[in-house]
Formats: sequence, C-alpha cells, structure tokens
Amino acid sequence: MSMTDELTLDVQALRAEFPVLSRKVHGDKALVYFDNAATTQTPKAVLDTWVDYFERYNANIHRGLHRLADEATQAYEHSRDTVREFVNAEDVREIIFTRGTTEAINLVAQSWGRSQLVEGDEILISRLEHHSNIVPWQMLAQEKGLTIRVIPVDERGELDLAAYRELFTPRTRLVCVSHVSNALGTVNPITQMAHIAHEHDARILVDGAQAVAHTRVDVQALDADFYAFSGHKLYGPTGVGVLYGRLSLLEAMPPWQGGGEMIKTVSLEEGTRFAEPPHRFEAGTPAIAEVIALERAIRWVTNLHFELLEDWEQRLLKHATERMKGIEGMRIIGEAQHKAAVISFVVEGAHSQDIGLLVDQFGVAIRTGHHCAQPLMHHYGLDATCRASFAAYNTLEEVDYFVDALQRVVNMVR
Ligand code: PLP
Repeated sequence: MSMTDELTLDVQALRAEFPVLSRKVHGDKALVYFDNAATTQTPKAVLDTWVDYFERYNANIHRGLHRLADEATQAYEHSRDTVREFVNAEDVREIIFTRGTTEAINLVAQSWGRSQLVEGDEILISRLEHHSNIVPWQMLAQEKGLTIRVIPVDERGELDLAAYRELFTPRTRLVCVSHVSNALGTVNPITQMAHIAHEHDARILVDGAQAVAHTRVDVQALDADFYAFSGHKLYGPTGVGVLYGRLSLLEAMPPWQGGGEMIKTVSLEEGTRFAEPPHRFEAGTPAIAEVIALERAIRWVTNLHFELLEDWEQRLLKHATERMKGIEGMRIIGEAQHKAAVISFVVEGAHSQDIGLLVDQFGVAIRTGHHCAQPLMHHYGLDATCRASFAAYNTLEEVDYFVDALQRVVNMVR
C-alpha cells in the first residue's frame, strides 16, 4: 500500500513478494497468471511460515507434552483464532479445519445432513454451483430419498430470487449456494437469501471458495449457518480449508470420521465419548503446517485492505471486459450487476480449448473447460468456456498483453 493522495494498492511492491511471478514460460515469455479462481499464487511470507514450521517445530499437535508439540499446538490453535476473526465468527469453536471447501461441504452432508434429514425432505441448490456443492447432496439425496430443487439463473448469470422464494415448501430444510460463482463471477445476495431461508426455518450453507480472497466475509452479517472455503484460493497452501458452522448446529452434529483427536474417552466395553466441536470433526493428524501457513496467508490478505483490493480487482475486470468486447465474435458469459473479477467467455468460430492452449504459448495462464459447473454450462448451451480470473497482483498491463494475445490467437484459429 502507498500513501499518496488516496490509499491505493502498491501492486508492483506486492508482486515482488511472489517468487513465481518473475518466472518465464515457453522460453522468454513473462508469466501472466490469470487462473486465480483455480488457485492463487503464494507470497514468500506464507512459504517461509510453512518452511519455518518444518525447520523449527515440526511435531504432532494436542497430544505431546514436549516443547515442539506445545509450539505446534499453539500455532495451530492460534490459526483457528485468526480464522475466527477473519470471518467474524462469534466463537472459536465454530471453526473446523478441513482439507478444503470440498471436504467442508462433505462434512456437512455426512454429519448434519445424514443425522437431520429424512425421506421427503428438500434441498435447494443453485444452478451456479460448483460440483462440490452439488454432488455431495446428490449422493445424500440418493441414500435418504431427499428431493433436490434447483434455484434458476437468468441470462445475466444472476439467481432468480422470486423463483427462489417460490421453491420453498414445508419440507425445505437446506439451501446450498455459492457466495461467488467460480464460473461467472456472480456475487450472490447471501444475506437476503439467508433471511428467506430462515423465514422458512431452513438452514443455508454458503460455498465461499471464490469469495474469501476478494471481499470481506462476515458470517454473522451474512447470517450463514455454514460457510466453507479453501486455503489455496486465498494465497495459502493446498490441502487445508475451513468450515464455519453455527455452534448450536455443530453441537448437535455427530462426527463424520472416527479416529484419534476427536474423542473424549474410548473403551472397548463401553464405547466412545466424542470430543466437543471443533475437535469432534477433526479426526486424525491434520495438515498442521498448512493450517499454520493459512494463518499467515489470512494476515497477508487482510493487510492489503479489502476495500483497496476490491477496488483494484474491479478496475482490472472493467478494463478487461471493455477491451475484450472489442474482439469480433466475443461473447462474455455472465454479466451480473455484482460480479467478482472473473470473465468467462467464448469466441464464435474458435474452440475454447484452442484459445487456452494458444494463449499459453504467449505465457498467459487462463482456464478452459466446464469449470466444474456443468449444470451452468448446459444452461448456456455450452460445453466449455475460457475463463480469466484476477487477483491482487495482476496489472492493467497484463490485461492489455492478454487481450492483444487473444486477438492474435482468434485471428489464427478462425
Ligand atoms: N467451490 C467453488 C466455488 C470453487 O471454485 C471450488 C474450486 O474451484 C471449490 C468449491 C472446490 O474447492 P477445493 O477443490 O479447494 O475443495
């Protein structure tokens, strides 16, 4: 950040914190990394934190009495508190570490869903969802005889709230919706949707995988019952994620995996008494180094100031959108009023995969495919799109370079 007339992100300074951003690909091409919705790059501070754990205090947590075990346990639990503050949860016991968003959602399905839902109950799922917020519910629905109803999306990629209201019946128990769509960037009106769900005595699970690195998340203001996200989309490591759950719900939920760390007592004669949340849901040795590095990533992104970050990413989005619209045959998929810095697009007469492969030759990393959102792709009559997604360290110059490369690629393949 620099103090000039106004507070702005010092993008060049923060780029220097990411070793990978200075690498070249395909010979001498500077890397332009626009695949941030898939995974973000990792700043040196986070890498150093991870290495420091292994160099100085690698030990299993919670069980040991020795110095290293104590330090590792403290760092691990300190991370839980940082996460609590980051999402403004009321209580640290509401924060469960998982392997990622996918595991967090599966946890809710297997624990809350299995214990609370009965045949004939209904779940509302938006058509915008990533497969990880669809498939666990389909699996549960099949097992228990549940009905899944779909919240429709309009042409701009916004959820139809009038239709959403109409979907509720006395059997509706849960709403599953993403905070931000990974495929289109649509920012969904979570607070409003949560209020509607609660009016009908249903719970709401929010997939925050694409939100946490781009906007300030306050689970209390959102009124979310569950909120899931991954470390690797938040400038942190892979293999770690978070489930926030309202304490009253977690307290009533059974464990979903058994093992060490999640018990109070185990007896072969009298059975097992389980630990309280959050430990009840963290069986086995967790990803200790990753949890500790996630703490550093959260501090790193919070230090950028979300107001400045959002401002910057919106500038990138606006500039890219305007310039891309100048390319003949360009169709941008999803133009919601509230949109994060994600652009999905197809170009008439050009195959998305060819575009992805060829812009890579210019050093630009974008994603092509269905983005794990096949129901949404089908809604638009598509099998695949190209997707450029931005993060704090991207620049307007990179956008210009990308659009120029894209224009050349389109000329080549058409
Ligand atoms: N939900 C959304 C919206 C995503 O974008 C992703 C990843 O792309 C996921 C869930 C799954 O995240 P993970 O693979 O880290 O569990």
